[in-house]
Amino acid sequence: MKRLSVLGSTGSIGRNTLKIVEKFPDRFQIVALTAKKNVTLLAEQIKQFTPPLAVVYDENHAERLKQLISQNCPVKILYGISGYLEAASHKDTDTVVMAVVGSAGLLPTLAATEARKDIALANKETLVMGGDLVMKKAREYGTKIFPVDSEHSAVFQCLKGHGKADLKKIVLTASGGPFLNRQKSEFGRISVEDALNHPTWQMGKKISIDSATLMNKGLEIIEARWLFNVAQENIQVVVHPQSIVHSMVAYRDGSVIAQMSNPDMIGAIAYALSYPERLDIGTTPLNLSSIGTLTFFDPDLEKFPCLALAMDACRTGETMPAVLNSANEKAVEAFLEKKINFNQIPLIIEKVMHQHRIIASPNLEEILQADQWARNFAQEVIDK
Ligand code: MG
Repeated sequence: MKRLSVLGSTGSIGRNTLKIVEKFPDRFQIVALTAKKNVTLLAEQIKQFTPPLAVVYDENHAERLKQLISQNCPVKILYGISGYLEAASHKDTDTVVMAVVGSAGLLPTLAATEARKDIALANKETLVMGGDLVMKKAREYGTKIFPVDSEHSAVFQCLKGHGKADLKKIVLTASGGPFLNRQKSEFGRISVEDALNHPTWQMGKKISIDSATLMNKGLEIIEARWLFNVAQENIQVVVHPQSIVHSMVAYRDGSVIAQMSNPDMIGAIAYALSYPERLDIGTTPLNLSSIGTLTFFDPDLEKFPCLALAMDACRTGETMPAVLNSANEKAVEAFLEKKINFNQIPLIIEKVMHQHRIIASPNLEEILQADQWARNFAQEVIDK
């Protein structure tokens, strides 16, 4: 029996994780569920999975959650960062599924690392902000981190059985998002609704916008850089609109190993939970002859400047990826609130990166300071 804390249980990764738990009740048990504000869904999840601990964002939501569940339900309800940290390091937990959105993943991931929990990591911002710190901690405490992002799960699978010395390149595939074939001149008129409509993946709002700007792929480069300890020069992105090949690893003898499946994130989640076993999760079998053609081409960095900015930040390292990430979160938020247009997202991030004074070998405090500075400055740029 593997006991899980699911942080971000009401989001799309969280909901898919619980589908797996529901299907394999003899393998998985829930110790903690956490959400930000969706107390209605969280209450249903608590009724179904009866975890001893549930956590929400603030006192107000904790009160509302208490009203939604029955008096004799034995769940302990906490709120705020201390609650999330407790869920991440709970004494009964074996594996923490880190599926919260954005920079909120960093501190709970560090707590889980120090508590020597296995981590199924779906939150890429954690490694973007504090990759060096988190991976050093993971080595120090002997904590295992299993990627849940489909591309990184693919790379993880393609690396199996091979030594680091044989690796030549990691090739991350990108669907290209909903605007792959739209003229750059029309980008200023892209609506929020258009941007949320991803062609191959069903995801939350933040990651859907990141996929539309290709920032998601940029964050994934930085995530891969830390997860697999590979320099940015050895990570390549290719656009692959069918989203069948989830990523590849090229070896020095010229061999390239790819991992394929129909685009369904449940496969990567299940593998992170059951590694090294594979579960019969009932996904649709891949039928290549009915797909017929798989295509691959280089990304257009002029059309999608967010990808170029992320590559820059990855090369620069230090506090720059955290600044890129925070500026992006603010810009995406402003776009979703219709305060800026689609073209302004990269312009805001670029301005913030340009003004940032890099701190070398940052500790946690310095990373959080850089994050806060970038948020404040991005807000100033947005308000102008
Ligand atoms: Mg991905």
